[in-house]
Order: sequence, then C-alpha cells, then structure tokens
Amino acid sequence: MTIPGVIDFHVHVGDFDRMRDDIKNLLEGTASRRDFDMKALFSDPRGLAAYLRNAGVVRTVLVADEGPGVNFVPTTDFICDFWEAAGEDKDFFIPFGNVNPNRTPDVIAKYESDLKRGIKGYKLYPADHDFHPITPELMEFYRRLEADGLILMFHTGTTGQDDGVDEYGDPKIFQPILDECPDLTVVFCHAGKPIWTGEATEMARTYPNLYLDTAFIKPEKLLVYLPELAEISHKVLFGSDWPVGVSSLSAHLKEIRNLGLPEEAVENLLYRNAARLLGIA
Ligand SMILES: [Zn+2]
Repeated sequence: MTIPGVIDFHVHVGDFDRMRDDIKNLLEGTASRRDFDMKALFSDPRGLAAYLRNAGVVRTVLVADEGPGVNFVPTTDFICDFWEAAGEDKDFFIPFGNVNPNRTPDVIAKYESDLKRGIKGYKLYPADHDFHPITPELMEFYRRLEADGLILMFHTGTTGQDDGVDEYGDPKIFQPILDECPDLTVVFCHAGKPIWTGEATEMARTYPNLYLDTAFIKPEKLLVYLPELAEISHKVLFGSDWPVGVSSLSAHLKEIRNLGLPEEAVENLLYRNAARLLGIA
C-alpha cells in the first residue's frame, strides 16, 4: 500500500440523547457487535480522532445535519465547535456545514458567516429535511460554492428517516446544479442507494466533477450497488457514515480491501480522490 492511510469523507457527530427515536434506533442497529463506545465518542473530538486513527484513518470530514431527526443539534456551528475543541487533533478533522432552508431565512447570509468559521464544504439533506434542492436562492448558494471552491454533498437515495421525502433523494433531481455549475465538486452521498445506484453511476461517468460516496453501504454490498466500481474508482470516495451502520471501522475497511478490487481502485477509493479534492498532499 503506497497511500499514507484512509480519508473518511463522511462522519457524523452530535448529541445522542437529544435525537429522535427513529434515528437512535438507526444508530443502535450495530450496538451488539460494536468495538467503540458510540455515545462517548459521538461528542468527544479527541476520543473520536484516536478511534479513527486506530482504524488507519488519517483525515476525516465531519458533516453537519440541522434536521428534525437529530433535533436540529449538529448545526454548522456545532461542527465548528467540535472541530475547535479537538485541540492538537484539529488538523485531523475537516468541517463541513449544513443548510436546511426550512430553518434558514437567508441562506447566503448564513453562508457568509459559516465561511468565517473555516468550513470547507456542505452536506445538504433534501430528502431527510423535506425541501426541493432547486430554488432560485439555493442555486445562488451553489454558484457561490462553485466560485469559492467549496465542496457540496447531497444525501441521495431513499431516506432512513420517518418523515423524509424519498423523491428528493433521486439523483436526477440534482441535474440542473451539475449543468449550471460545471466547476462545482458535487458528491452524491450513498450513491443513490438502494434504488438509484445505476442512475448515480451513469451521472458520475457523465459529469467530470461529480463523485459518489460509499456511506451507509455495507462492504459486502459495495459491488452489488456499484458493479462498475473498478472502472469509476477515480469518482468514488470512501465514507463510513460512522457511527451509522458501522460496528467496527477497522473490520469495515478490511472487508473493503478484501473485495478483490485492483490495488489502484482501492487506493483511489480510500485516499487519492479525497486527497485531491481536499487539497491534501
Ligand atoms: Zn450520513
């Protein structure tokens, strides 16, 4: 292996006790086999960095989520506070913000204040937060991200949340953004799973700056959902979605390395693509 380690492009933190029951159940799904204390690490930057490093991770994107399922707690400010509280581990984390237009009266004003806190991108959740991703205000926001070189992630695929709207997770709905902002790096989280992975793959082949991430895809399902992974390995980012669906990150990574993919594809997936997008040498 010639890569220095793994970049995990999709990790959640928050306050477990304040979450809604359906999300608590989603997080507790792997509890019996877990090799970490989720409730402790979920709110502890130094502990989380140590756990992730132990699994071979060298850098981690933290995603905000100002949605109803998490009781609106892990906001952009929450993520930035968590990041700053990491002290000596601050460089380990890369903070991504969240905009939920149902909660934010002026998206552009929020963006300008978020930028000052040092965020490097955003994750938006149209399906989980119940909003259509194409509005004049959001299009202006996407153009700003494009001009400023930030990365934009979307939850794609069906939603795991009780009151979500699946149709807002259909990859096709995001096409106007890709057409209007060709230089914007867009990531389709979960690669449109479980029903739109073919569509997401096709779009990743078509749009040079569109990527897919592997969050919430079990390693044994990776080649079921993405049978062309080896061919599009330069367009896929490893994201664990920790702590969602992960019982042991080391075991999860080992399973990915044992899928029989070419070495180059594994290195692209686990490190090189993310390093390129995040400007890591
Ligand atoms: Zn996630």
